[in-house]
Amino acid sequence: MNRMITEWTDVIAPITDWIHQYDQHADHHLSLLEVAEAVLATGLAGHSEGRELAGRIERWRYRHLQDEGDHWSWQTETLVNQLDQLANRLAGRPDRLPRCTGQAIQDSRFDTDTIREALELVDPRVPLSALTDRASELTRLHFGCSTDDRSAAPRWRMVVYAPLYVSNQCINFCTYCGFRYPLEIARRHLNCDQALDQARWLYARGFRHLLVVGGDFPSLTTTDYYAEILRAMVAEGIVPAVEIAPQSTESYAELVRAGACGVTLYQETYDPVRYREYHLRGPKASYPWRLEALDRAAEAGMARLGLGVLIGLADPYHDIPIMMRHAAYLMDRFPDRTFAFSLPRIHAAPDGFQVPFPIDDQQLIRWYCALRIAFPRAPLVLSTREAAELRNRLAQLCITQMSAGSSTAPGGYRDDVSDTGEQFPVTDQRSGAEVARWLEQSGFQVRWSLDENGS
Ligand code: SF4
Repeated sequence: MNRMITEWTDVIAPITDWIHQYDQHADHHLSLLEVAEAVLATGLAGHSEGRELAGRIERWRYRHLQDEGDHWSWQTETLVNQLDQLANRLAGRPDRLPRCTGQAIQDSRFDTDTIREALELVDPRVPLSALTDRASELTRLHFGCSTDDRSAAPRWRMVVYAPLYVSNQCINFCTYCGFRYPLEIARRHLNCDQALDQARWLYARGFRHLLVVGGDFPSLTTTDYYAEILRAMVAEGIVPAVEIAPQSTESYAELVRAGACGVTLYQETYDPVRYREYHLRGPKASYPWRLEALDRAAEAGMARLGLGVLIGLADPYHDIPIMMRHAAYLMDRFPDRTFAFSLPRIHAAPDGFQVPFPIDDQQLIRWYCALRIAFPRAPLVLSTREAAELRNRLAQLCITQMSAGSSTAPGGYRDDVSDTGEQFPVTDQRSGAEVARWLEQSGFQVRWSLDENGS
């Protein structure tokens, strides 16, 4: 049962009870709780002592969630909810209901009417035109540009942006990724000046919204590292977002203070068994830590949250409906945020990785249109993984944000990086200017940054 706690003793007592009954590490955890009690009793919640302790409690909670895996029980639920509330209170944040992401994605009550409509239409027996007509109608309705000049045949506004890869250092072992450890690629980790140099090059070509992307190498890709880059970019007039490893609530708050307008974080797959097979080692092996990352980001004040699954890893008829439910749950918790979606598709992977669930272009169109029907006002984002012809077609149906002129190698915009690995090959090789020209000639209103609401 999820309920709000009013007294801090109400938070700690059930955890102590649980420790006495079930805990293998009782001494360690009891002493941690004693410190927590002292911090709360002396009014240090929200100060550095409280925030540091909140991080330790949060890590304990995720270790427990990971260890429990598929053996979920009411004891687990009680403990993780109490730890969540304790960490929240120690960090000095307002009381709230506990996170329940893991349960929510199993709960069909989170499916909205528009999600149900989308899932009915995505049935392969329904003609594709039924989806494409509905999707383009909704996109025009919610993203169309108002103009008196009907002859201009406006479609809708389209944000053009670029990813800025700052580091391909990574200790994770994602079997499908060209950056994974220990592949022998040239590793590059840009310092702040080098990252800014790349950002200025993009700025000079019109880009105002950049997505800072980096691998997961805890001693290098620290929160401070990203915060420094974000601050430098904001000072140059750039609106940055991040696509980086999941962070703690505290770290997300620091990135928000540094100017991050959003976070993109794909679950890759919502099938926990397959997730374990693809993420064999490294911090990314923790499914629950990743699953709740967008909760933590939103709690930290992140304005825009980007969801996605990596198409090819699992059955899309399993993964995408659960992603929709995940988004509906987050929208319920954070109705004032902007939610965006993307469906990156694997085209090439390291040697030895066979894509188990490939889908063709028609199916990708079907699923993007289903997203538009499920979330009529959500930005839908399309990367340069896909070929120009398909991107142009999707743009005319439902996409509202496209990357262009991308490099997926750190330093790839200005430097010779021919010896440096790319995370994935860029298929649409058109420059930002070429993509923008095609969009304008096709009746779109090109924007180089996000609106105030993150669309
Ligand atoms: S997908 Fe991300 S975390 Fe995994 S190996 Fe690639 S860069 Fe690292």
